[in-house]
Amino acid sequence: MRTLEIRYTGFRTCPNCEGRGDDGAAWRPIGCKRCKGHGKLVTAVEVEDSVDGLLPASRYDFNALGEVFLLDFDEDEPVEVIRPRSPWG
Ligand SMILES: [Zn+2]
Repeated sequence: MRTLEIRYTGFRTCPNCEGRGDDGAAWRPIGCKRCKGHGKLVTAVEVEDSVDGLLPASRYDFNALGEVFLLDFDEDEPVEVIRPRSPWG
């Protein structure tokens, strides 16, 4: 079956919490909403297609939390998407 493998290739420190993952309060710190408490944001992903090789960035979209959205794929073709469990390892 055709496979698409997603890999995370770039991160940056979350500017909202400066990498802490929370608001830094000494007592009951509140988790950062922007990075969901991870302290890092995804800045780059790679998607490798078993048919076309590495896909150009125009074929997919992603967000800072590592969700990847494939664009322009034929819904009828069975494709197995291999996703890392999470960007945070
Ligand atoms: Zn944050």
